Amino acid sequence: MTQHATSVATVHPRPRIVIVGGGFVGYTVARRLARGLRAGEADVVLIDGTGVMTYQPFLPEAAGGLVEPRHLVIPLRQVLKKATVVTGLVTSIDRTYRKVHVRLPDGTDYAEDYDQLVLAPGAVPRTRPIPGLAAGAVGFGTVADAAYLRDRVLRRIALAANTDDWPTFRRALTFVVIGGGYSGVEAIGELQSMAMAAIRRYPNLKPRYLRWELIEASDEIMPELPGNLGAYARRRLTKSGISVRLNSQIAALDGDLVTLAGGQQFHADTVVWTAGVRANPLLAGLGLPVDARGRLQCDPTLRVQGDDRLWSAGDGAAVPDLVAGDRLRRDKAMAAVPLCGPTAQHAVRQAKMLARNLIAGLRGKSLGDYRHRDAGSVASLGLHRGVAKIYGVSLRGPAAWLLHRCYHLLMVPTWGRRVRVAAGWAAALLGGRDLTPLPIAVVPPYLAAERERDQRGERVA
Ligand SMILES: Cc1cc2nc3c(=O)[nH]c(=O)nc-3n(C[C@H](O)[C@H](O)[C@H](O)COP(=O)(O)OP(=O)(O)OC[C@H]3O[C@@H](n4cnc5c(N)ncnc54)[C@H](O)[C@@H]3O)c2cc1C
Repeated sequence: MTQHATSVATVHPRPRIVIVGGGFVGYTVARRLARGLRAGEADVVLIDGTGVMTYQPFLPEAAGGLVEPRHLVIPLRQVLKKATVVTGLVTSIDRTYRKVHVRLPDGTDYAEDYDQLVLAPGAVPRTRPIPGLAAGAVGFGTVADAAYLRDRVLRRIALAANTDDWPTFRRALTFVVIGGGYSGVEAIGELQSMAMAAIRRYPNLKPRYLRWELIEASDEIMPELPGNLGAYARRRLTKSGISVRLNSQIAALDGDLVTLAGGQQFHADTVVWTAGVRANPLLAGLGLPVDARGRLQCDPTLRVQGDDRLWSAGDGAAVPDLVAGDRLRRDKAMAAVPLCGPTAQHAVRQAKMLARNLIAGLRGKSLGDYRHRDAGSVASLGLHRGVAKIYGVSLRGPAAWLLHRCYHLLMVPTWGRRVRVAAGWAAALLGGRDLTPLPIAVVPPYLAAERERDQRGERVA
């Protein structure tokens, strides 16, 4: 246990704990505080831009039509009865006067006082200065992205079935995913699985007309997995018809023209960008030390270095991984302590520790350090295909895929949501996956203009 006891001076009759972000960290901290705080011990306010928690590991299945997008979002107000939930975007934080500035959905601004502040606004896609990329590529981090992509793939197949124009046909059926990490691999696996099922509905189309490209800058996909599993995943994807380009990068995206760093060019209507994340830019504006990815430097108790009223965890926090550090020191491989990776597994465990330490701090008790032995990873490569490494045991194929599903089903917050997800799988098992395109699917704002052009038929002419 680290001795960092703190007493909390407050401006309100009761200590006011404000949580920014209601994702894995914010939701878990609020739940744990509700359980651990005594009646009247503190007020808890959670502010989130969307008002819902998104279970991101199921986004690929939502894109693939196997999970209904609505079923992977959890309405925070409904599940956090003891906290005040505010739907609004935090625009800035004033550490001198201890105020969080919030923009409400109606455009008005207000300020929330805090005594203790938990910063958990997660990550945003890490884009590169590649010409045309920001305007032309779709991200893959929100329910809107997943719903949009599902609709997009299905509509492109329908378009290809109804055109006599060869270039239009070719680019409609060419799909590119940039980034061979977890989310890129899972996204392409699920979308391709869905496309294979959808194309069979069109007598004039054949699965071999589909072209899927996964572009990865390093020499293997899913570098988080031990080498042989990454290589297995790559072989599996290749066997199912996905071209995996290693050591390859996109150089430019000009409308639907993709140019690779080596100069090779091809046309694709759909380009998805999943090449890494960086911390929410809100955090860099605090004037506190951040790491190279913009994450707040935290000590092992989850306190932000430089301000003892601030706490952080998850994708926006640079938290020392003490367990990995011990192992490396034992192996004499490295002296410096490594940092925890941006995974839901760390986010949830850190959030539990953070809540415990917050309560301990309020009570003037000593704080504990975050130590978590990584349980491993599971990933889906599309229906019935997967890879996993759990507690040192490697699995592949349908067993890994089933493990992936069971693990994530149990991790989805609330039984209500778990039942809905499982019922969706049962329906897909009996009647096939849902291949209905939704012409009014939610469109990310940055794609609205492109979509309007699309609907006017300008790009197909
Ligand atoms: C497609 C995909 C698949 C993934 N699969 C896995 C997986 O299989 N296993 C795994 O371990 N991890 C996975 N991850 C990573 C995992 O989802 C993240 O590590 C985890 O969500 C981090 O939790 P967090 O609380 O830090 O951020 P988030 O869960 O992203 O929560 C951040 C919250 O902050 C809110 N917010 C942001 N900015 C503001 C603001 N200015 N004001 C108010 N609210 C704000 C957002 O609305 C959001 O609700 C996946 C991620 C993606 C995108």
